[in-house]
Amino acid sequence: MEHFPDIVAVMVSVSVEGSYSYRVPPGMSVSRGSIVAVPLVGRLTLGVVWGPPKDMVAHNRLKDIAHVYDVPALSEELLTTVDWVSRYTLAAPGLVLRSVLRSTEALDVERPVTAFRKTGHEPERMTDARLRVLEVVADGSAWAKAAIVGASGVSASVIEGLERAGALQRLEMPAPPIVLPPDPDEMAPVLSAEQAGALASIRELDVGKFGVALLDGVTGGGKTEVFFEAVADTLRAGRQALILLPEIALTHTFLARFTRRFGTRPAEWHSDMTPAQRARTWRGVLSGAVRAVVGARSALFLPFRELGIIVLDEEHDGAFKQSDGVNYHARDMAVVRAKHAGARVILSSATPSVESRNNANQGRYRHVLLRSRFAEAALPDITAIDMREEPPEKGHWIAPRLAREIFATLDRGEQVLLFLNRRGYAPLTLCKACGHQYQCPDCSAWLVEHRFRGVLMCHHCGHEQRKPESCGACGAVESLVPIGPGIERVAEEAEARFPGSRKVILSSDMGTNAQLRDRFAEIERGEYDLIIGTQLVAKGHHFEKLTLVGVLDADLGLAHGDPRAAEKTFQILTQVTGRAGRAARAGRAFLQTYHPTHPVMEAMVKGDREAFYAHELKARAEGGLPPFGRLAALIVSANEHDVAFAFARGLLSAAPMAEGLRLFGPADAPISMVRGRHRVRLLAQSPKDFDLSGYVRFWLTSAERPTGNLRVQVDIDPMSFF
Ligand SMILES: [Zn+2]
Ligand SMILES: [Zn+2]
Repeated sequence: MEHFPDIVAVMVSVSVEGSYSYRVPPGMSVSRGSIVAVPLVGRLTLGVVWGPPKDMVAHNRLKDIAHVYDVPALSEELLTTVDWVSRYTLAAPGLVLRSVLRSTEALDVERPVTAFRKTGHEPERMTDARLRVLEVVADGSAWAKAAIVGASGVSASVIEGLERAGALQRLEMPAPPIVLPPDPDEMAPVLSAEQAGALASIRELDVGKFGVALLDGVTGGGKTEVFFEAVADTLRAGRQALILLPEIALTHTFLARFTRRFGTRPAEWHSDMTPAQRARTWRGVLSGAVRAVVGARSALFLPFRELGIIVLDEEHDGAFKQSDGVNYHARDMAVVRAKHAGARVILSSATPSVESRNNANQGRYRHVLLRSRFAEAALPDITAIDMREEPPEKGHWIAPRLAREIFATLDRGEQVLLFLNRRGYAPLTLCKACGHQYQCPDCSAWLVEHRFRGVLMCHHCGHEQRKPESCGACGAVESLVPIGPGIERVAEEAEARFPGSRKVILSSDMGTNAQLRDRFAEIERGEYDLIIGTQLVAKGHHFEKLTLVGVLDADLGLAHGDPRAAEKTFQILTQVTGRAGRAARAGRAFLQTYHPTHPVMEAMVKGDREAFYAHELKARAEGGLPPFGRLAALIVSANEHDVAFAFARGLLSAAPMAEGLRLFGPADAPISMVRGRHRVRLLAQSPKDFDLSGYVRFWLTSAERPTGNLRVQVDIDPMSFF
């Protein structure tokens, strides 16, 4: 290990632009990657030794490192990744480091566990309870106190009594690992010929080197079995594995499949874990005791030291983009980290992002295809219902043809999914006496009625108010009417039209993660006939009896001025229609649309995904949009609209000239006010090989600094444009 003289640079885990110099006190030994505590403005802060000091500072003006933690140093590839992410996203390196160093709890020495072992001495007085304890420890091995209590059913005092009587010996043992190491040979899978071919193609990427594969296969095509084998190869090679999922808290079936394949649960990493579980997992990853992690995007910053593979399941999913604090995209940063770590990446999806498809087309990623569905289930037969020709009856949202199909499906005892990607009862509430529309007091967004809970709610800031009895503007009583449907309103229509069926509504605001997991399990067991849901139901669930999917507003995603609108719509429609007919039964799907000739709808109906990608790639190339060009958004916000707008205009005039660079704005953001702050957007578009991050950094340093309540947020490669 490299050692530095007694001054080192320490990156502190707070939002500052660079490292600070500290003295290494006599007797302390640190190297690059050592995790330390240092004094910073009067308190101790976590940091990491980054290397030699940037400049020579007089010794006597520096503070000492207060403490070095007794854990392995962070790996070189992780430190390099932190620097890279910081440079790319323009987030302060200390802020990125904070994604790595999450708690001090993980760094403290783990408390040992009290255990007991039999001594061989019989106690003078024997009781039933004592006998039960001695039976448990009869094998001669050390048993944790809690385990003896669990196995014998006696109280802890009986154990302590046996210790005093000399029959048991007390031991302090290291805490058991949070998970057992997965066994790559626990259960050899039976792969179809096509899966075996896909695996062989992935195996051409060297298990010890950087390489990316796009595992591009239809929904239900068995991608998971294939990437599990690549994970097994990595484990056999003595390296650690990371699987990232977009919605881990809800995917209990995935964890069960992992457990079957590898004989033990994976370590998990997501927001539902307790701080103690997080701390133990983090430490296990750093020490190498944890060999495989299944986690949400933030698991990308776990302190692996032998990372050998990163799998992103549903790689196209928007949940991989983080949009507060550090604005990073986990898919792109996974490729960066894997490059530094010499690891493989598998991007898995039935609807790959246009970026990944382009990388595969260009040969940068290995393109691995899985074209047929498992277990002989066919892809669903998709039909568009032209809402201009076959509109629903007044006050209804389900077109007559779809309603007939629902009746027929329910009659056969099969399940139906009605999909509308809009929570609540109605997206807009209006007074029919005066026309007043209910808006959030803090955002430029309409309040959404949630009738189930009796409130009007803002989906941008969470503001809630009781639904008023009379109009706040004109005082008219019972004059408020809902405009447009949310899923609660569709459920109301379904209740009236299909009264005998068992129904469930599913959206993210319908309970805790644990409650939602229960609902999914109930659906899998066939306890509901009609499922009414938002995109929450579109992802990764296998409902055997589901044979009909009705999409009530297939155009919903196309309405925004978002360059990725067509792609997002294609992805969600493919995912949700793919829920139909996943087992032996054939599936059908109906798309209610006002734009049946839109390329997305035509590709869906023809089942021609290649037509969609070809059309979309051509359109992006013509527009210079990603992946053929690059975008960066600057969002200026302030308490006063004019202040934000004037500052944004100042920014624009300070923008340096650059060849091929185009600037748009300033313009009020589509949601021009959020939480009482006015938002103005600037957009920079550049050619593909342009260092847009470097340009924006230079631009911001040469422009006026925001003061007061002004803020400038930078979003490189923005995914949303609200
Ligand atoms: Zn609001
Ligand atoms: Zn009114």
